[in-house]
Amino acid sequence: MFADRIQPFGTTVFSQISALSRKVGAVNLGQGFPDFDGPATVLQAAASAIGQARNQYAVTFGEPELRQAIAQHSQRFYGQQVDAESEITVTSGATEAIFCAGLAFLNPGDEVVVFQPCYDSYAPAITFAGGVPVPVTLHAPHFRFDPDELRRAITSRTRALFINTPHNPTGTVFTHDELLLIAELCCQHDLLAVSDEVYEHILFGEAQHLRLATFPGMAQRTLTISSGGKSFSVTGWKVGWAMGPQPLQAALRRVHQFSVFSTATPLQYAIAHALRLPDSYFTELRSDYQARRDALAVVLRQAGFSPIVPEGSYFILTDTSSFGRGDAIAFNHWLISEIGVAAIPISGFYQSGNHGDNLLRFCFCKQWATIEEAGRRMEKIQEQGGRGGKVGG
Ligand code: PMP
Ligand code: GLN
Repeated sequence: MFADRIQPFGTTVFSQISALSRKVGAVNLGQGFPDFDGPATVLQAAASAIGQARNQYAVTFGEPELRQAIAQHSQRFYGQQVDAESEITVTSGATEAIFCAGLAFLNPGDEVVVFQPCYDSYAPAITFAGGVPVPVTLHAPHFRFDPDELRRAITSRTRALFINTPHNPTGTVFTHDELLLIAELCCQHDLLAVSDEVYEHILFGEAQHLRLATFPGMAQRTLTISSGGKSFSVTGWKVGWAMGPQPLQAALRRVHQFSVFSTATPLQYAIAHALRLPDSYFTELRSDYQARRDALAVVLRQAGFSPIVPEGSYFILTDTSSFGRGDAIAFNHWLISEIGVAAIPISGFYQSGNHGDNLLRFCFCKQWATIEEAGRRMEKIQEQGGRGGKVGG
């Protein structure tokens, strides 16, 4: 009754955990969405666009106003020149751009290198198009890849490489040297790169976001994907975009026009406004998230975890094996039902091996009160046996 291609995939872990969390009234530190609103002027810009009759179909590849704002943003932050007319397609979130990329660029049997753990939509985007994801592991505890493992993963069948920096769920920010090696290998093997940079503005300490597309030889072979959801705390708007050379855009637009045709018009005007916010907005976003990251790390340490503090993204990973409550999936169910806090087990983000079986992801894009309430609830972990505890099982 159903197509074979969907058999390996169930409902996403994000939807499952959010539903369970709502049902039992848990504090949801699972699915990555802010529980606060985006900047008031951005919300106002959406309302104004609706009031100004921006309510019919948008240009299929994006309203000119938004494409110009995306091009200016690329110039401002990366010194990268992108032609607004021919090198940008606006999509319904980064998710749609990733999905269209699979259908636009892969033929059945094409191999695609992905760094695992990898965001949950990559494997379906690749396999629905007939492609084959080939994982290269980011090794704990620092979640870096082994250059030889990357070299070995590339074969004569490799067509593309998907990368995500800053990285969900590990928080790794790929360094200049790592990106340089990736760029050299892409050029050497004539690979297409799909670079998911949705957390480009969520960075901590000295971490710097570098664009793969700006490395030598990469401009003509990279599709850079981003989204307004993370940078402006409006994940429900689903306004994303894909930048890259005209031939890649032409292919992507052919798929995009038949998948959604166009993305919500008034929200495109609001994201155009958001992308033009002053530098101070982006600096404050960064320092605000750094403070929340540090607060959640304290909460987790007090609860007995040893969190791996990220360089970017809004997620913290932590190992659960020493609690003696099974793998991270079992631990998370116990955490939700007995402690009242929800997180995300990341084993489903791996294509092969059992590397992440004991890793749990907590997100800190939450109100201070939410983080504090999670902290109060997690004090009970120690009361119920804490580290090494076998109480109840
Ligand atoms: N890529 C990564 C790495 C993500 O974490 C997410 C989740 N927000 C997306 C893509 C999807 O972004 P969007 O909500 O814009 O579709
Ligand atoms: N990107 C979000 C996360 O990693 C989830 C988005 C979704 O639910 N599709 O938590």
